Amino acid sequence: MRHTPEKIWTEILSDLSDAARGDVYLRQARPTNLTESKLTVTVPATLAKDQIESRFLTDINSAIKKQIGQDITFEIAVIEPAGIQPPPGNSATASKSSEIPELSADTSQSSAGGATLNPRYTFDRFVIGTNNRLSHAAAVAASENPGTVYNPLFFCGGVGLGKTHLLHAIGNRVHQIHPELKVLYVTSETFMNEYIDSIIVRTTSQDFRGKYRTADVLLIDDIQFLQRKDGTQEEFFHTFNELHQNSNQVVMTSDRPPKNLEAVEERLRSRFEWGMVAEISTPQFENRVAILRQKCQDHGFDAVPDTVLNTIADIVQTNIRELEGALLRLVTEAGLFNEELTDEFAYRVLGNHTGPVPTPGHKALTAEDIQKTVASYFGVKVSDLKSAKRTKQLVIPRQIGMYLCRTLTGLSFTEIATAFGRSDHTTVMHACDRITNGIQQDSELNRTVNLLLEDMK
Ligand code: ADP
Ligand code: MG
Repeated sequence: MRHTPEKIWTEILSDLSDAARGDVYLRQARPTNLTESKLTVTVPATLAKDQIESRFLTDINSAIKKQIGQDITFEIAVIEPAGIQPPPGNSATASKSSEIPELSADTSQSSAGGATLNPRYTFDRFVIGTNNRLSHAAAVAASENPGTVYNPLFFCGGVGLGKTHLLHAIGNRVHQIHPELKVLYVTSETFMNEYIDSIIVRTTSQDFRGKYRTADVLLIDDIQFLQRKDGTQEEFFHTFNELHQNSNQVVMTSDRPPKNLEAVEERLRSRFEWGMVAEISTPQFENRVAILRQKCQDHGFDAVPDTVLNTIADIVQTNIRELEGALLRLVTEAGLFNEELTDEFAYRVLGNHTGPVPTPGHKALTAEDIQKTVASYFGVKVSDLKSAKRTKQLVIPRQIGMYLCRTLTGLSFTEIATAFGRSDHTTVMHACDRITNGIQQDSELNRTVNLLLEDMK
């Protein structure tokens, strides 16, 4: 049997203890290369490399020996954080030439029998941040060498975080650099509908199979839709196998990781994990601002002050589609009502609609209530949470407290900062970003925050 890095890595992981497999750092490791003498995995940060080396190296080395039958070098490479890459140029000077080209027959798009690729969704227009850096890197690698590096490639993340954008960007790039390849983009829903049609009109059955099983690159969006669609899953299983066996690239997106696709057959779920599973999390504040700048450029808005972009990024935190929607709305309303684009105008237009609202099921809470609950949960004093002390025992509880205030009360960042004895609201923004990202990556933190939320009902 062929030893791919992915396969070996899966086998190595299965030899490790549950605790190791569930470890937050080890889960970030992605197998990238396997030679006769070396297995390479990549991680997104030096911290992850250090943690894995100090805690699991011995076990990993013995698992490698067991799987391969001899000692080979195990290398952990760090893909250094690229940080946020602001779009080239300055939005304030964006000219008409940066306007989005209209769809036309000769734009570099492939329809290849599936839905048309959106030429606006390109890598150039995709802003990279810590929340999506790995996904972006994998997407670029897969489009440059389809079917070889990350196959299948599986993007997961919440609504409006750029999964579809990345999928189209892959298609557009493949089309550009490998025009001979057949690229097929389809939503899972369309796949199902076409499958149903092919059952009803039996003559189209061959067409259906021929279409999907001959794609060089199959881009399939929102795979979570296949949950409980057993017949379509079966069909997709065979499509997947055929494509994978022929080293054709399969890229999928989902609103959750494969293991959480509970109503998808195990054999399919496990295949989704064969290649690379890349998560896209919510963007941090600075990243949201960078995205807004990119959108200003895309839309040719050259007069939106940076402070207004900051305000939008402060108000809309979890969904890039809404972030863009908020920008469009502000610019439209300012034009309609002949208003100047100021922070105050942004708060007036957006503040009431998109600000945090108490989560249903929670009574009205004050910052003080939250601080008391958090302090008693962690066995610390409220006064310590509000103090300047930065010991490990206090930093996380304090950040969780700030995050809960933001989630459960209508308080602004500045008001929360004041409640915690701080003068700088960016401390609260960072705390909220860290916890928002943390609860997606760290199951322990996720559990703690959920228990606290339960406590406060
Ligand atoms: P999803 O498929 O995850 O729900 P989409 O790909 O449809 O999200 O993205 C929603 C909107 O946000 C799109 O207009 C997309 O261009 C934009 N968007 C998402 N992420 C980025 C990003 N990193 N850079 C630029 N635009 C982005
Ligand atoms: Mg989508």
